[in-house]
Amino acid sequence: MEDRNTKTALVTGGAGFIGSHLIDALLAEGATVVCLDSYLTGRPENLRHLERESRFDFVEADVIDKLPAKIRLGKIRFTHIYNLACAASPPHYQADPEHTMLTCVLGTRNLLRFAEDMDARFLLTSTSEVYGDPEVHPQPEGYRGWVNCTGPRACYDEGKRAAETLTFDFARSGRAEVRVARIFNTYGPRMRADDGRVVSNIVCQALSGDDITIYGDGSQTRSFCYVSDMVEGLMRLMDSEPAPGAPVNLGNPIELTVSDLAQRVIALTGSRSKLVHMPLPVDDPRRRRPDISRAKAILGWEPKVGLQQGLEATAQWFSDEQNRSVVFGRGTAREQMAVGIAAE
Ligand code: UDP
Repeated sequence: MEDRNTKTALVTGGAGFIGSHLIDALLAEGATVVCLDSYLTGRPENLRHLERESRFDFVEADVIDKLPAKIRLGKIRFTHIYNLACAASPPHYQADPEHTMLTCVLGTRNLLRFAEDMDARFLLTSTSEVYGDPEVHPQPEGYRGWVNCTGPRACYDEGKRAAETLTFDFARSGRAEVRVARIFNTYGPRMRADDGRVVSNIVCQALSGDDITIYGDGSQTRSFCYVSDMVEGLMRLMDSEPAPGAPVNLGNPIELTVSDLAQRVIALTGSRSKLVHMPLPVDDPRRRRPDISRAKAILGWEPKVGLQQGLEATAQWFSDEQNRSVVFGRGTAREQMAVGIAAE
């Protein structure tokens, strides 16, 4: 492991949920960090606590475009580039599928070229979505997946698959030193109330006493990783020596059905919300669970935060957010949700 204190990191998508936690962890380890984010789904609130941090800077830009001069020609010589820039929730990435695909492909290419210029190490955050609706369970990295390349999720799934291709092509031709993480479902504080994913939806609905939306019969499964575990995995992967030379799954292998998740959230919040069933989205994967043998072997990493502990912390954070909204007049989570979706 190298000395993380010498790190000068560019984090794209750093105003987002995972990105902002990653920035906190990098700064805590002594790194200097520049965040690039378009605020498409990231939020200034996630970084507000860093306003006076001398080792932190923010640049508003879209990775699809030529990188801003402040990044390309600035004084900082980046040693590490973490590419987290992309909407990751199905309703958000499907809102503008062309933009999602280009964020994955052009954004990754722009950043790989920049990594080549800077001689910086590059980490792509890919996704369990590369496995599509998997026929192999749990999913090891060697499984090539079952993605519908013409379906509504394809802009993200195929975009990330192409981004992985580009990343390994750069590595093969010696143009960049790379790492690729395949991130499975992750949750925790700083998710958006209007994120649209199952944990944020169910927790916000339970806290507000609204009906809890179960898509389909609720028997589909996911495996949920708490955000601090994910950030630790990403940092260990970036620092791993030698480069794994292949993607690495990061996620929590504890699998449960969406209905079970809803029951657990109801129990821990003491909510009186009722479950309502809504149509299952097209191509929604039936089940998903990471095989993390590679991460354990190469990184010595496995998740530490249990589901109960993680959900409690998440529910507490959303509850505090709702109280702040009332005090500061930002509207309820539900109103924010409507505003967020209208603005996309
Ligand atoms: N889901 C649900 N209710 C919601 C949001 C999502 O039942 O309010 C389901 C969704 O259909 C999927 C699972 O929960 O089967 C996880 O969905 P999410 O959007 O969180 O992530 P992904 O499908 O990308 O894993």
